[in-house]
Amino acid sequence: MKYISTRGQSTKAGFTDILLGGLAPDGGLYLPESYPHFSDAELTVMRGMSYRELAFAILSCYVDDIPADDLKRLIDKTYTAQNYHFVREGQNPEDITPLLTLEPGLHLLSLSNGPTLAFKDMAMQLLGNLFEYELARRKESINIVGATSGDTGSAAEYAMCGKQGIRVFMLSPVEGMTPFQQAQMYSLHDPNIYNIAVKGVFDDCQDMVKAVSNDAAFKARYKIGAVNSINWARVLAQIVYYFKAYFAATDNNAQKVSFAVPSGNFGNICAGHIARMMGLPIDKLIAATNENDVLDEFFRTGVYRPRDAAHTYHTSSPSMDISKASNFERFAYDLVGRDAARIRDMWAKVDRGEAVDFKSLGLFDNVKGYGFVSGASNHALRMQTIRDTYDLYGVVIDTHTADGLNVGLKFRQPGIPLVVLETALPAKFEDAIQEAIGQKPGRPAELANLEALPRKVEIMAPDVAALKGYIASQIGQ
Ligand SMILES: *Cc1c(COP(=O)(O)O)cnc(C)c1O
Repeated sequence: MKYISTRGQSTKAGFTDILLGGLAPDGGLYLPESYPHFSDAELTVMRGMSYRELAFAILSCYVDDIPADDLKRLIDKTYTAQNYHFVREGQNPEDITPLLTLEPGLHLLSLSNGPTLAFKDMAMQLLGNLFEYELARRKESINIVGATSGDTGSAAEYAMCGKQGIRVFMLSPVEGMTPFQQAQMYSLHDPNIYNIAVKGVFDDCQDMVKAVSNDAAFKARYKIGAVNSINWARVLAQIVYYFKAYFAATDNNAQKVSFAVPSGNFGNICAGHIARMMGLPIDKLIAATNENDVLDEFFRTGVYRPRDAAHTYHTSSPSMDISKASNFERFAYDLVGRDAARIRDMWAKVDRGEAVDFKSLGLFDNVKGYGFVSGASNHALRMQTIRDTYDLYGVVIDTHTADGLNVGLKFRQPGIPLVVLETALPAKFEDAIQEAIGQKPGRPAELANLEALPRKVEIMAPDVAALKGYIASQIGQ
């Protein structure tokens, strides 16, 4: 399988060539040349597979430059019950992503049982193993520099800690993450993990990271890389659990399922789109946003209108506080019939901060054919949904999952199971849960003392020179 850029001006590349990079050289995002399609008979065989077998069946369609035995070994090492063990009572960790049935036809898909209690562990844990493998093969190393407002940074650190050939420099705002999220990151003491608390806000952190990666000489000398949400391997790894959930929620391939997905950068739901393109019988893909409703606006009106940082709201589902959905370009490419010239024109505008009107270009009619619908949630609805779910089912859900459930229920149809993706566990967002139901969420016993653990963190002013100096001194060359 070769990979092409959504902007059509980069040479085709293999999986491992795009694994360690970010954007394509022409500024686009990589996508496979075509989507493999599973027949009904193949789906029937897959129905009986374990998570690891399913992951191999899907990933091996997209990865042909890692020997099959090695790919299998990396998958088997990643998707273990031990690695995804923070299951709820009664769930089997061997399922890796078990369904939690709230009532007949309404399920949560537990994606947050990995080490950092958010769905990003599903892909990031695999990425850690793929990176280590490929870097060793190429006799290279990488220094990942990133900024986080919570879930991404911790997932990246827990995936990369102890890995050969990889260092992680992760910037986070001194204030802004929950105490749990901070403790999760700062309590990591692995020598290849560097926590940097910036005396500023998340945007300051992001600006510093951008400045470092815009310095070509520094970037080359210190082998600076990233693990951001546009990484194709992350999207790829996320396709697997749509299949797993579909098989768990149905008993034959004639049935359809709808998925509600709490969305920010459009990575998670983009994997759902690709699963559908591969023949998975998905009825609706329901994009749920919070108050930052750039995606909901698009699916309602056909206008994609990214916002700037000043128009990004800080909400109680902070991992969806996104003003520009970085993976959206992948879906847009399919929506415009894979016409790269069109995407170039459109994203020239997007990159200038302008809106693109797909409808007036005659390119929006197709969107229904892809099964997408959407809705936006808000703080009051989120709190109400957490309360209702607790009262009705005795289940405490986190704020992001609440946005997904709230919006998903509006599109629920009789006879079609609705699966809501649980993108984090409530333990990460204690204050919000306390506000919703008047008590703190339960927490896995082994994490009881997380906030009291000794911390490894460097405090830094929002100063690019200081960051570069720190990175250089730690790498020591
Ligand atoms: C990252 C994240 C999301 C958004 O996922 P995207 O792939 O960016 O759309 C939703 N919920 C939680 C808890 C997250 O960490």
